[in-house]
This record gives sequence, structure tokens and C-alpha cells, in this order.
Amino acid sequence: MLTFKTPITDLTRVGKAIACQMGKLEIKTAGNLLTHYPFRYDDYSKILTIKDLKTKKTGTVKVKINLIANHRSPRKKMIITEAIVSDQTDSLKVIWFNQGFLTRTLKSGQQVYLAGKIDDDNYYGLQLTNPSYELCKDKNPIHTGRLVPIYPSTTKLSQKQIRFLTRQILPLIQEIPDWLPREIKIKYNLISLSVALEQIHFPQNKLWLEKAIHRLKFDELFLIQSQNQLIRQRIKNREAFPVKFKLKETKKFVQNLDFKLTEAQRKTSWEIINDIEKNFPMNRLLEGDVGSGKTIVAVIAILNALLNKYQAAYMAPTEILAEQHFKNIIELFTPLRDKSLTGFKNFKIALLTRNNAKINSGRKIKKTELLKQLALGKIDLIIGTHSLIQEKIKLKRLSLAIIDEQHRFGVTQRAKLINQSGKEKTKSPHFLSMTATPIPRSMALTLYGDLDLSIIDQIPPGRKKIITKIIKLDEIKQTYQFIKKEISKGYQAFVVCPLIDPSDKLGVKSVKEEYEKLSKHIFPNLKIALLHGKLKSEQKEKIMKDFNKNKINILVSTTVIEVGIDIPNASIIVIKGAERFGLAQLYQLRGRIGRSQNQSYCFLFVENEGEKVQKRLQTLLQAKNGFELAERDLELRGPGEIFSTEQSGFSTNLKIARLSDFKIIKETRETANLIFKQDFKLKKYPLLEKKINESIKITHLE
Ligand code: ADP
Ligand code: MG
Repeated sequence: MLTFKTPITDLTRVGKAIACQMGKLEIKTAGNLLTHYPFRYDDYSKILTIKDLKTKKTGTVKVKINLIANHRSPRKKMIITEAIVSDQTDSLKVIWFNQGFLTRTLKSGQQVYLAGKIDDDNYYGLQLTNPSYELCKDKNPIHTGRLVPIYPSTTKLSQKQIRFLTRQILPLIQEIPDWLPREIKIKYNLISLSVALEQIHFPQNKLWLEKAIHRLKFDELFLIQSQNQLIRQRIKNREAFPVKFKLKETKKFVQNLDFKLTEAQRKTSWEIINDIEKNFPMNRLLEGDVGSGKTIVAVIAILNALLNKYQAAYMAPTEILAEQHFKNIIELFTPLRDKSLTGFKNFKIALLTRNNAKINSGRKIKKTELLKQLALGKIDLIIGTHSLIQEKIKLKRLSLAIIDEQHRFGVTQRAKLINQSGKEKTKSPHFLSMTATPIPRSMALTLYGDLDLSIIDQIPPGRKKIITKIIKLDEIKQTYQFIKKEISKGYQAFVVCPLIDPSDKLGVKSVKEEYEKLSKHIFPNLKIALLHGKLKSEQKEKIMKDFNKNKINILVSTTVIEVGIDIPNASIIVIKGAERFGLAQLYQLRGRIGRSQNQSYCFLFVENEGEKVQKRLQTLLQAKNGFELAERDLELRGPGEIFSTEQSGFSTNLKIARLSDFKIIKETRETANLIFKQDFKLKKYPLLEKKINESIKITHLE
């Protein structure tokens, strides 16, 4: 029997190859497929005559096949299927490439629907190329004659295959209980869940499609808001370890830094220190532009927690960033040792990532051993990636949990970290999230719940404005010359490549190609290295270390360097295919440079020189700070488009809703507030309770 958990391989016509492609899209079960939503629809809903199609160029026609045959193209050795079709108005040539099997399905004399685009080839004349087809005897066309869904896919998986499989599992929707309370559906005019799911895949018409999208967006945002509520409630009822402010030691630490804290850093540190002195948990978001120096503010809080003999945890979104923090924080604390100030001791600091566990000295240690020491309270500070919440770690005296670049983590991941304090089940750590996320503040708050806000609105003095330039095709050569010159002065450069093929998820292919090109042809005499998420931890670590020591001139990388990386000597960043990135992401990437007093340069290479692209990128050139940029981006792209791609750099786990869905965000927020206020345990809504709990579990596994 078909259920949500049915593996995709149990569906008709799914062999190894298709399962593998589906895997790349993270579709493993029928349930996954059901929530693999189309990202757009081709409107082939109106059936045209051939005569009309010839003027309109795209659409569906209902025709008779007069003639159909395969032949091989002489040069390319490609199989070409050619057909002549007609209706009462006209006849038309149709061509398919490399689909020789078609002649087995399509025969002359048959009535078929064909949907597609007419090419006006000056050699062959008008022809319909590679149209979708469906026999007229099929009652429910899914590829033609309707709003046809187009899904996110890979190069080896056709839209037709996805549609075919999705239709197979559609009966499943009848089994889904509609967990949204009836009165909410009535209040906001929402259609039932099963209808929404059916219509999102195979909409009857545009109106129903809209209704379906509305319902599913509402669901998604409502769940996030409910999770927020739940977390807030959980935190509210807990106690925290009060962290006493150690004035003398903190002063000493700050004096020891090789820079002076900015006023904004002082102010925010103070806000945090005030919060953590209390015996209930802090829940604070520290916002500050890229490069504004958030790390040190966090470290001051950590220092105080540790001096109070409590533990602290610091979670970063990437392994590379976790490594960097590990190294830096050890260095920052080093001068403190051997000082005779009371309370100082040799802090024990550890690193935990998926493949790596280390302690202070850089010595590797077994994961199990590290987990044991953490549980015994022998480690003072643990720095790591998602592993901190995935591994079953328990911290005996966790008083402070920090999430760096929190826009990369989902709401529930935060919840998980809060729940990590071992025996002291009733205690919750003080919680500090940090972000440079240039999304309008109002939006951040709506999405992340009622966090208290601290803002660093100042950049350390003496930094020069980054010179940002859009590089057109004919300027590439001189740009490379310029980069060569800068490198000869001792500076370093990042070259960041976009993801092009969605199946190349980690961008391995894309960076390899760029690496080859640069190291063989463009900069044969420079030291170039390549970095992507698939490398082993040790390799990544070595590369970052070498880059840090200026043993590497150019680092060709995927967006793994996007957040947090701090290499002040790197003064150039080249972003290839810049138009493929969201503005927020470009902004973060550019934030990797301009971190010292040297003049830095950001070169945006574009493949598409169109006006729209130019205009969007110009915004990046003009915006004074991240927040202004976010507002402009919103204006330019308009609701529905902002942060809509994965490459926007936000991990909000949003599948269908957008951060710009203000109205629905507001509605869901109010609704969740109301429901939880009236019925905190959700006794009246068992289905809703189950759904929220499930959703929390699912995000945990990610
Ligand atoms: P972000 O806010 O992006 O996380 P970081 O904490 O990585 O920024 O800091 C960026 C760089 O600025 C680091 O190299 C850090 O040492 C340096 N820095 C931080 N605060 C100051 C300051 N007050 N004066 C000078 N440099 C500073
Ligand atoms: Mg940072």
C-alpha cells in the first residue's frame, strides 16, 4: 500500500537511475515527492488551432498525426523524429531530438495534444521543436492542455518523469488529516489541505492555484510561528545560571586586545552582560554588519561564563568557520594564562564537527571521549557546527549558548541547543544569536520571534570603502592583470563560483573548472588552491591555514566561505556569475574583504549583461549598509522574489512562503499568539499539536 513513507523506488518506473537523481533533490519517499512543489507553471491551458499557434508561438494544439518517422542527422549522429500534423486550420512540422522511442507511442492517424514553442528557423521554416505530447484519449492530461507544473529538477531528470511520478502518488493526499483548526480556515478563507496539495501540482486554473499557494504558505509560516511560540514558552518557564560580571578580568582582557573596542561593541557587550547576570535565560539577537566585530562581543560574554566556572557552547554554520573561531578564541585567551588574577585558569576549549574532535592544543581526540568530558563538565567551551545539536551531547553546566550567523539555522535548531543542558533539566542556557543578515529588521523579528535586540551600528575605524566593480566581458583581461599586480604586492584574493547545475549541489564541478582555468591559463605562476564542501576536514583546514599564512595567493571557492571567514590580508574578491547570487549573499561574500586598513576590491563578473541585472547589481554598489541594501532589494525585486532562491543564503527552511509575504506572516503570527495564549498545551487541537511536534522533529534531523 502506498503511504508517505513508501520509498520512491517502490513506485512504477523508478529504477536506480531515477532514484539517484531524485536523491539529489532530496526526494526519498512518496511524502517527499508530494511536497516537492513546482516553482512555476507553463500556461498551456488554452487549446489553440495550428493557425493561432503560428502567430502566438507558444501553446497547446490538438492535432492529428499525418506522418511520423525517425531518421539520423548525418553530422551529429543524432536521432531526429519528424512528424507532420494537422487540424482543420493548417498543418505543421514537428521535430523531436534524441527521442527515437516516440515512434513507438505516437503513430500516424492518432489524435494528440502537443504543447510547446514554435521555432522560426530560417532554414527549415516554422516548426514545433521538442513539444510535450499526450494522446487525446488520456482523460487527464498532465503535460499539455493545462497549467503544466515545472519542478526543480536535475539535468538527468525530465519534467515528464517528475509529473508522471507525482500523479502516481496523488491519491495519498486523501489520507492527510487537515491539521489546521476549522475556525482559522474560515477566518482566513483557506481551502482544505488535500485540495491545496492537489492543486499545487495540477491546478485546475489560476484561481485555484492561487488558493493552493495561499493555503500552503499559510501552513508553512504558521508552523514557524507556532514553533517560535513553543520555544518562547519553554524558555520562559526555565531558570538559568546567573553569570556574575567579572569586572577586573574583563578589563584586563579588553586591554590585552590589539585594538580598541568600538563604542557600539562596548554598549552591546554591556547589554549582554546585564542579561546573563540574571537567573532566567537571556534570549538576545546581536545584529551587526559584516565586519563590525561581533565575535569579540561574544567572546567577552564567554569569558565571563567561563570565569564563573560554567560551560559555554558556540555554534557556527560551517566547519571552516568553526575551525576559525576555535583557533582565534584560543589565541585570544592565551595571554590570559599565567596571569595571577584570581579566577583565571587554563580554559579547556574543544572543537566538534562532523568529522573532527579536538581540544586546545590542537590535539585530536576521540568523539566519544570528548562527549564524556563535556558531560562531566571538564570542557569549558565547546565550539562546533550543527554537530553540537546532532550528536547526543550533554553539557553539565551549560550557561551560555551562542549561535553565529543564525540566519543559517532554523528556529528549531535553536530550540535544540537550548535543550542541551544535561542533568540540570530545568536550567536553560542564556541564549545569544548573532547575525549580519541584512534583512529588514521588522522581518527578522517576525520570523525569529520575540528576541531582544542588540545592534552594533558601527564599523571599526580606519577601514577604507571597498571598491566594487561590475566586470563586463571585455574588461576581464585587464581585471586579471590588476589582480596579478595586487598579488605581487603581497595581497590575496578569493574567487567565488556560483552553482550552475542544481545536481552539482556542493559546486564541486564548478570550482574545479575555474581552478583549472586559473591555474593553467591565467595565473600559471601563482599559488592557487581550491575549496569546497566536499573536501575532507583536514584538507579544508590545511587550505585555510595556508591561506591564512599567505602561502596561497588565490583561493577558488564555492560559497562555503560566504559567512564569517576572517582573513584580513585578503583584499580582493572575484565573484563569478554574480547575477546568479542574491544581493544579500553578494553582500555577505563581499564582507570577506575590507577587514583591514588596506584598500579592497570586489569584482563582479557577469555572464548576463542585461539591464535588469545591471540595475540590481548597482544596488550593491550604492547601498551604505546591509539594511539599506535589503530594503532596496525588496523594492527592486518585489514581493515573491526576494530571497526566493537557495542562493539567497538564508536557511529559513521555507519551501513555498517568502520572507516578503508580510501579510501572511502577520496573520500567522497573530493566530499562533492567540492559540497559544488560549490553550498553551493545544488540548483543543490534537492534530495541530502533533503536526508541530512532528515538524520540530523533522527539522532536527536535517
Ligand atoms: P563580524 O561582525 O563580521 O563577525 P568579526 O568579529 O569577524 O566580524 O571581526 C572582523 C575583524 O575586525 C576581525 O579581524 C577582528 O579582529 C577585527 N576587529 C573587531 N573589532 C575591532 C575593533 N574594535 N577595532 C579594530 N578591529 C576590530
Ligand atoms: Mg562573524
